[in-house]
Amino acid sequence: MPTPAETLIADLRKATLLNSIAGILDWDQQVNLPPGSTEWRARQMEVFSPLCHKAATHPRIGRSLDALDAKGEATTAEEKVLRRCARRDYERLTKLPARFVAQKALLDSRSFQAWSEAKKNGDFKKFAPFLTKEITLSRKRAALIGALDPYGEMIDSFSPGMTVGRIEELFSELKAGLVPLSEKILASPVKAKPDLIRDVPTEKQLSFLKKVTAALGYDYSRGRVDVSEHPFSTGNYFDNRITTHFKQDNVISSLFSSIHETGHAMYEQGLPPEWIGTPLGEAVGMAVHESQSRLWENQVGRSRAFWKYWEPIMRREFSPHLDAVSFEELYLSINEVSRCLVRTDSNEVTYNLHVILRFELEKRLIDGSLQIKELPAEWNRLSQELLGVTPRNNTEGCLQDVHWATGLFGYFPSYCLGNMIAAQLWYAVHKEIPAIEEDFAIGKFDRLLGWLRTHVHCKGRRLETEELLEEVTGEKISPKYLLKYLSERYGPLYLR
Ligand code: ZN
Repeated sequence: MPTPAETLIADLRKATLLNSIAGILDWDQQVNLPPGSTEWRARQMEVFSPLCHKAATHPRIGRSLDALDAKGEATTAEEKVLRRCARRDYERLTKLPARFVAQKALLDSRSFQAWSEAKKNGDFKKFAPFLTKEITLSRKRAALIGALDPYGEMIDSFSPGMTVGRIEELFSELKAGLVPLSEKILASPVKAKPDLIRDVPTEKQLSFLKKVTAALGYDYSRGRVDVSEHPFSTGNYFDNRITTHFKQDNVISSLFSSIHETGHAMYEQGLPPEWIGTPLGEAVGMAVHESQSRLWENQVGRSRAFWKYWEPIMRREFSPHLDAVSFEELYLSINEVSRCLVRTDSNEVTYNLHVILRFELEKRLIDGSLQIKELPAEWNRLSQELLGVTPRNNTEGCLQDVHWATGLFGYFPSYCLGNMIAAQLWYAVHKEIPAIEEDFAIGKFDRLLGWLRTHVHCKGRRLETEELLEEVTGEKISPKYLLKYLSERYGPLYLR
């Protein structure tokens, strides 16, 4: 007869398999779905999501957990993690009725479509009723789970262990150092040349970005790259896909979004395969996930050493488009810092201010102190205050991101936390392997990936967000590393 632990693992795996099918439906919706088929997909998700929910809330999971608890202390470290995390997930999910799950899946699908349409024309009024419903359902979800602080619950669901208070503390310390630093850099007479490389055919861009991402360590035998409006990555160890978005006037954009998504995908591809389907084979949360994508995108991808290796290859492959561009011009354009309205196009110096703006707004949307009809004007006001620019329309203002359209409130802070974690890990890597950047200059990335595999990936959900950082770096999250990294990377370029 199987033990309670074996029964538990088998049931958790079944729920994960079903969830991964929902993930493929979502991937297909963003990559392949014919425009006239969106309502049919919404109805498919309405039927399918409760099946996933039913598997994840099967009463046998509860009975297995009770049986494990009844035998006393966990006998192994793995069993301890399994019990703690599976209990947390099970308790949350069983509080949500199947009816609610179906309603939310249907709304998310419709709301995503409404947002896509509204974004094209900057028509906030068309999207507002969907946003209202998303906020209502997100508050309802928090109430069903029994959360006293709804926004806090949302934060914790994406980055276990993080609280609104802790994020406020970290963001205000970061902001105090970042605002003067970014103003100094923005005021520099050094400016990157605009439109340096344009009109490179997409096949050439795709072939180059595939070479780069494969060299970093993305395993294409368990992955693939496609095109979608909003780049993303999805899946687990066995099947992990990334997408990109080509811009004719900005070749750098698709390359860097691909490196970003590759960082996410390599985290999933590095989780222990024997534990996939259980919390030991899952990522800690989205802040740590974003640290993996941002570390490859920024600390690695924007470094001089990285370009020492890739610039001659890019020059050859994109010929004749780079013929008139020098290495220094290219490197400066990769690290261009300018006032920018759109988060996903933003440089890494001002990027965190975009996140702070969204954190301030979504906190108030959830607690009701900001009315939905006030959102566009409030977004523009904060944009001027924090970024020094006002959107000309809602497409480049409050409609630019997809997150709120599918009820992802509490996700945005993960990006900024991820940046802080990435910088902190970056210095921890250098302490152990001081010459790590010399590897990049010869196109070698396996020592860095190996370090991340050992210190982050292979641990699954053994530790919560800040516990992991403390174990790996000896400290909880600290903004000082990101500020130090930004000064060291951008000071020599702009503040000479
Ligand atoms: Zn990301």
